[in-house]
Amino acid sequence: MNKNFNFSTSFRNSQLVKGVVEEIKRITTKPWTIMEICGGQTHAIMQYGIDQILPKELELVHGPGCPVCVTPLDQIDRAHAIAAQTNVIFCTFGDMLRVPGSSTDLFSLKAHGAQIKVVYSPIDAVKIAQENPDKQIVFFAIGFETTIPANASSIIQAKAFGLRNFSILVSQVCVPPAMEAILSSPSNRVQAFLAAGHVCAVMGYWQYHPISQKYQVPIVVTGFEPLDLLQGILKAIRQLESGTHIVENAYQRAVSEKGNQAAQEIINRVFEPCDRNWRGIGTIPFSGMGLRSEFDEFNAEHRFNVEHIKTQESEICIAGQILQGLKKPYQCPAFGNVCVPTNPLGAPMVSSEGACSAYYRFSLNREEI
Ligand code: SF4
Repeated sequence: MNKNFNFSTSFRNSQLVKGVVEEIKRITTKPWTIMEICGGQTHAIMQYGIDQILPKELELVHGPGCPVCVTPLDQIDRAHAIAAQTNVIFCTFGDMLRVPGSSTDLFSLKAHGAQIKVVYSPIDAVKIAQENPDKQIVFFAIGFETTIPANASSIIQAKAFGLRNFSILVSQVCVPPAMEAILSSPSNRVQAFLAAGHVCAVMGYWQYHPISQKYQVPIVVTGFEPLDLLQGILKAIRQLESGTHIVENAYQRAVSEKGNQAAQEIINRVFEPCDRNWRGIGTIPFSGMGLRSEFDEFNAEHRFNVEHIKTQESEICIAGQILQGLKKPYQCPAFGNVCVPTNPLGAPMVSSEGACSAYYRFSLNREEI
């Protein structure tokens, strides 16, 4: 790599960006629909207006890659039921505080006296458990393959320390089964995927080859800067225009075919594949990672007996259709009026990776909105 290359600016270099956009325009002859999986990529696309500089034939749709958005309502309600208990310190990432459940959110529970702590890592929650032996400490383990290794580490640490007051409420999901669910839906519109670079940094991209072949879709591992995203789109268009469908890696500086094998080992030591409910989408077989039976003592659902919870979804929120790329946030009647970040009706308006929040922050002045 050129020694003058600067990671913080070169991937946003306007001349380089223009060159790739020109090439995309030159080779695009038909309408194509491409889905970026990751909510971080959705925010970068909206922040830099990448969808605005592409040829009109190209449509970018936003996938179910926001971990907060896909956490199902029943698990949110379980979190609220546990957090409301007097002997519990409930630990969570900050994004979850305002996510609406059937009747409340963690922020309101905290205002009414529940002990809810924002942490940056599950390891922080283990430390809180060591410091508070008379309390039950519960960590809300949401997220994709990027966060699962740290969750696994927290369980291994808690077991090693012999902690009896630490548990996790698990809602972990994996990307490949969600891609298959989208592609096999009769209403699918997606013709190519930009796979999430950070997920592939952990898991590699070997799992994507069978999907690409079975559904005949190009899948391009893509990063998060403007130039990364445009390179991913360019590679996807080249394949679409030439009728090929393979997995390509446009994020080679961070991703290898096999990924981080130490991280994969720790995931598989603590968790195993299970069916998982995705908010707005439904149950996707083997799309989750649940605790192995030997770690069941750390399962908050069992410890607090909150398995049977009745939920009440918002009748207005169309998050499920947005997460499957069927609609855009501005097509929701509540967008920007009834539903705003300070009064969210659904998780995609709350999360820093949610599609509705991205459109609200970066595109309110656009013509189509
Ligand atoms: S704008 Fe609000 S109500 Fe509409 S889909 Fe997004 S989160 Fe749901």
